Amino acid sequence: MAGGAYVAIALGFALAGGVVGKLKGSSFWIWFLVSGVIPFIGLLTAVLYRSERDEVRRQCPNCGRVCKLYDALCVRCGTELEFPEETIAPESAAFSAR
Ligand SMILES: [Zn+2]
Repeated sequence: MAGGAYVAIALGFALAGGVVGKLKGSSFWIWFLVSGVIPFIGLLTAVLYRSERDEVRRQCPNCGRVCKLYDALCVRCGTELEFPEETIAPESAAFSAR
C-alpha cells in the first residue's frame, strides 16, 4: 500500500529530524515529532485536494454556479440546494475524458 510506504518515509524523516535535533543539543522527541508531522500534513493536504477534485458536482438552479454535491447551500447566492436530478462529473473525470 502507498500508505504503508509513506509511513516508512515519514518515520525516516522523523528519525533523521530527531537525530539532527539531538546532535544540536535539543530534544530528540520534539524534532522527531516536528519532522514526522510536517510531511504528514503535506500528504494530508494532497489527499484532501485530490478527493475534492473527485467530488461529484451540480449546478445551482438560481445562479448557475457549480457547487459540490455535498454543499447544502450555494456558496455564491446562498440558495438551499436540493439533491439534484442531474449531476456534473467530477473535475478529475472531466480531465481524463479530454
Ligand atoms: Zn447559487
